[in-house]
Amino acid sequence: MAGAEKKIRNYMDAVFPILYIHTSEVEKAKQAVRRAIEDDKRIECLVWDGTDRVCDLRFGIIDAYSKEMLGDNPSLEDILDERIYYDANRHVFILENIDTFIREPEITARLKKFAEQIRVGNIEATIFIISPVLQIVPELEKYITVMELDYPDDAKIRSIVQELCKEQQISMSEELLSDFVYALRGLSEFEIEQIVQLACSQAEGLDKSHISLIFEQKRQIIQKAGILEMVPLKESLEDIGGLENLKDWLRRKEKVLSRMDEAIEFGVDMPKGILIVGVPGCGKSLSAKAAARLFNVPLLRLDMGRLLGKYLGESEENMRKAIRLAEALAPCVLWIDELEKAFAGIEGGSSGGEVATRLFGSFLTWTQEKESAAFVVATANDITMLPPEMMRKGRFDEIFYVGLPNEEERSKIFEIHIKKRRKKDLPNIRLEELVKETKGYSGADIEGVVRESVEKIFVEGKDKLETEDIHNVIKDTHSLNEIMHRKIDNIKKKCEEHKLKKATKEGKD
Ligand code: ATP
Repeated sequence: MAGAEKKIRNYMDAVFPILYIHTSEVEKAKQAVRRAIEDDKRIECLVWDGTDRVCDLRFGIIDAYSKEMLGDNPSLEDILDERIYYDANRHVFILENIDTFIREPEITARLKKFAEQIRVGNIEATIFIISPVLQIVPELEKYITVMELDYPDDAKIRSIVQELCKEQQISMSEELLSDFVYALRGLSEFEIEQIVQLACSQAEGLDKSHISLIFEQKRQIIQKAGILEMVPLKESLEDIGGLENLKDWLRRKEKVLSRMDEAIEFGVDMPKGILIVGVPGCGKSLSAKAAARLFNVPLLRLDMGRLLGKYLGESEENMRKAIRLAEALAPCVLWIDELEKAFAGIEGGSSGGEVATRLFGSFLTWTQEKESAAFVVATANDITMLPPEMMRKGRFDEIFYVGLPNEEERSKIFEIHIKKRRKKDLPNIRLEELVKETKGYSGADIEGVVRESVEKIFVEGKDKLETEDIHNVIKDTHSLNEIMHRKIDNIKKKCEEHKLKKATKEGKD
């Protein structure tokens, strides 16, 4: 029995009253239910499809049932009433297109009664709600278990692409097929079909140029789902000034990730991920982006704010969804930005605190047990807000502390940002002077100084950037350390207390 069917059967056997299959592939979900009950002829399976029709999923007796039992045009209330008092064999009742009905008090009350009867064992049944929209009314919450269909694996994606190419009489090399499979990971069967059909319709044959089309379509699909964002990769390790220890560490992991099978065979552990904590604006996000580029994999940003849902259970489901998607897209980098925000209030007894605790639990279990090549890069400013378990060895492969850049690093950061904007002026800039004047500046402060200097000379009509121009902007700038001295000191102390590894190689401040 395949994954989804097995999961459905297990839930049914464990008497879960309502299974909510959240999917855009309604037909596929119905087939999974049908396969789950295939061997048990005692189970009757009825489907209500949002109209006045009820049909038997296995035997396809459309309308006959409703006409015989309930007369013409029965309402959903009639059907539910009949089901609640129905005491025949074990049965499965599938509700489709229920989005507009589920909030109606008459329907909610009947579903609640039905689910309660199942729960206490008076009725042997399972209710399935199959919908692309996740709507859980609070009254039904305790009876509902949300499940998602698994993403197709590489073999399945391969067969879908091959099938479509055969239909369109398009031939494809083995190498191109592998690239397509890689690019289509993390999408549903329906989405894969749509994208491949689109690619086929745009050209006579398929070639490498279609891979970028696939990635663009995929980025939009992931974006629409609203939990993960596929971040375009522009920055590389060369764009990071300093942080040499962290960069060396990433280069080492790249050696493992690029030869994963060989490394595992050799006895190397699958890299889990990294936590980067420290001062704002000093290159944490930059490092997440550069890591994905170095590993040559997609970067998925998990927005903790968007993860927190309105309904009870929704946040955890969103977390599971994000994890499942990241696993399906693996190898990838899953970037969890501002990790501490999700865990704020975890100690508090508020309901927000409870949600955070559960989220935290499922995230920790996953980081601990994951076997996929979804490499986590978590970033956080305030480590005091992170639960102590998060800092334990084993959760992440390493925890790095990123502080304010030292002299050598500031020089590199100036160089990077001047080069980006005014490459030809760089040889004339006296970097050592700028470095002395910018003690306590973050990387973002330095970038801001360079940006403003370039804008100023443009407005003033000058044709080249000089050290003096940058001096003048520095004079009018307040460094991060000036503005947040106490906070930065606190972050530094905490990181030292935890004996976190420094991202920077020792050098003069
Ligand atoms: P926050 O916690 O506020 O998100 P962060 O540590 O993630 O901060 P980044 O977003 O990486 O900071 O940095 C902001 C910008 O500052 C970067 O886009 C980059 O242009 C510049 N910057 C910061 N640190 C460096 C660095 N070490 N080298 C080059 N540029 C840097």
